[in-house]
Amino acid sequence: SVKPSHYRRLVVLGAPRVGKTAVIRRFLGDDGFEEHYEPTTEDFHSKLFHIRGERYQLDILDASKERDFAAKRRLTILTGDIFLLVFSVTDRESFTEVCSLREEIVTAKSKLTKSKENRQIPIIICGNKTDLNSSRAVRHSDISRFLGEDRVSFEVSAKDRTNLEEMFEALAVLGGLPTETR
Ligand code: GDP
Repeated sequence: SVKPSHYRRLVVLGAPRVGKTAVIRRFLGDDGFEEHYEPTTEDFHSKLFHIRGERYQLDILDASKERDFAAKRRLTILTGDIFLLVFSVTDRESFTEVCSLREEIVTAKSKLTKSKENRQIPIIICGNKTDLNSSRAVRHSDISRFLGEDRVSFEVSAKDRTNLEEMFEALAVLGGLPTETR
């Protein structure tokens, strides 16, 4: 097992079919990309890192696939250290969903810390499927308009790998984990 300070829990949230599974698979180093949509119940993964002789563990929970997620979501949110909110740039509603999830996380977490000052919660907004540019329904400017300037956001494609490494790196940095490059 790893030291508590070397452990993080990443909670992935977003509407169905936006590509959460595909993004998580890429993060886990899986080279395969599934064209076929198969809803899975498998929702929990662990990634181990060895960086400069130290062991780190990142547990990844695809919370949308949790049974009874609605009932458990507050607890899931409270126990999360880092959040990845995924939408599809081709699906306007999935973007709206991300906006309300972000609100929910900020509200839950700030109640917990009981602090007025907005301690920055590590949240990354991920707009997936940029390869489907011709059916784009969410513009880049929408993201800053609806989520404000403090957001950390990436537009990616799990299919052709655009911007994924950059996003995973930011995720580690924001979550206070070391990366190979620093
Ligand atoms: P989830 O329900 O959010 O976990 O979504 P999945 O990862 O299962 O993906 C849903 C569907 O979208 C599948 O058919 C995937 O092949 C497809 N998909 C996922 N990511 C991308 C992407 O970046 N580009 C394209 N074109 N399709 C994607």
